[in-house]
Amino acid sequence: MSKHLPLSVRVAIEKDNPSIKRDESKCIKCGQCKNICTEQIGVHGTYDLLKTGDNAICINCGQCANVCPTNSITEVYEYQSVKEAIRNKEKTVIVSTSPSVRVALGEEFNLPAGTFSEGKMISLLRKLGVDYVLDTNFGADLTIVEEASELIERIKENRNLPQFTSCCPAWVKYVETYYPEIIPNISSAKSPIGMQGPTIKTYFAKKRGIDPTKIVNVALTPCTAKKFEIRRSEMNSAGKYLNIPSLRDMDNVITTRELAMWAREENIDFNSLEDGKYDSLMGEASGSGVIFGNTGGVMEAALRTAYFYLTGENIPKESLSKLESVRGNDGIREASIDIKGLTVNVAVIYGTANAKKFIERMKKGDKTYHFVEVMTCPNGCIGGGGQPKNLEEIES
Ligand code: SF4
Repeated sequence: MSKHLPLSVRVAIEKDNPSIKRDESKCIKCGQCKNICTEQIGVHGTYDLLKTGDNAICINCGQCANVCPTNSITEVYEYQSVKEAIRNKEKTVIVSTSPSVRVALGEEFNLPAGTFSEGKMISLLRKLGVDYVLDTNFGADLTIVEEASELIERIKENRNLPQFTSCCPAWVKYVETYYPEIIPNISSAKSPIGMQGPTIKTYFAKKRGIDPTKIVNVALTPCTAKKFEIRRSEMNSAGKYLNIPSLRDMDNVITTRELAMWAREENIDFNSLEDGKYDSLMGEASGSGVIFGNTGGVMEAALRTAYFYLTGENIPKESLSKLESVRGNDGIREASIDIKGLTVNVAVIYGTANAKKFIERMKKGDKTYHFVEVMTCPNGCIGGGGQPKNLEEIES
C-alpha cells in the first residue's frame, strides 16, 4: 500500500485529476471525504491501490470537496485561465450557465437559500468582462429531443432497455469503470454542456461572424465532473465538423464556488447588481432544462417529450403527477406511466451507491424497466460538488 494514499482515513486523489486536488497541509483527517465517497458515491473502498498501480479510481463528482471543512480538497480552479482569456483582446469569451447555479449562487452572498439569482448572475459575468452570456438550457433542450427520440426507437425495437440517462459525467464514468456491460444501455445523447459547446463554435459563431478558433467557451456549472467531461477525447465535435483537429468543444469549466471567489477577488458587490439578460440566439430555452438541476428532472422532461412524439398530445395530468412524484428525495424512486396502452416503467436515482443497489436488483429481478435517470450527487446537480458549501451541516 502506498504511504502517500492511506485508504483508511481519506479518499485517494490521483495527481492528474482534472476535477479535484488536495492540499495535504490543510487536512485534519476528519474522514468526511471518505464517508461520502463510500456511503453516497459507492467508490471508496471498492478498489485496491496495489492492484491499480497506485491509481485512484475517482469518478470526479467532487462530493469530497463539497464536504471538506478546511478546503484541503477543492476543485481544480480554472477561473484564472478565464480571466486571462478576458484580458486577451483577440479572444471572445462565452459563458454558458447551468440551471442549478442561478439558484445557488445567491447563497454564497448571504441571500436566502434557493433565491433565484439569474439576473444578478448574468450581470456579474458581464461585469467580469465576459463577451456573451448564454443559457445551457438551450443545450438541455437538444439533449431532451435526442434522449426522447432515442427512447422511442429503443422501445419500438425492444433493444438496450432500460435506457439510462447520460447527462451526468460522473455516472457515465462509474458505469465505464464498474458496469461496462451496461454501456450499451446509456443514452448516446451528449449532456447539455456536451451539446452547447459545439453548437456555439459552429452555429452561434457563424451567426455572429466570430472566428471559432478565437472563442473561449466556458461552462459555469455546479459540477466538478464537467471538468473531466469536457476533456474527454470525444468532446471535439466542432473541430471535426470544421476540420480543425485542435479545436475543443468547451475550453473551461468553472463552478458556482469559483465564480463567487472570482467576484470577491474583484470586490464586486453581488447583491447590488441590477438584473441582466442573456444574449440572444442561445439564451432562450423551453422550461425543460430548468428542471434538469433536480433529481427526476431529466426523466420528466424526456418522458413528456416522448409522450408528445408518440401520441401528438400533451401528457395527461394524472400521468404528469406520477412523474412529478418521482422528483422526491428518496435515493431510488419508481413509477409506471401509460402511453396509449404501453406501460413504461421508469426509475429515478441519485447517488451512485444507490445506482449500484438498483442495478444489482434489476439484474436479479424480472421487471422490465424502460428509462432510468441516474445523477451522482445528493438530490441531483443542485447538490453538485462545486456548489456552495453548507458549513453548518458539515460541522454538525
Ligand atoms: Fe455533476 Fe450533476 Fe452528476 Fe453531480 S449529479 S456529478 S453535479 S452532473
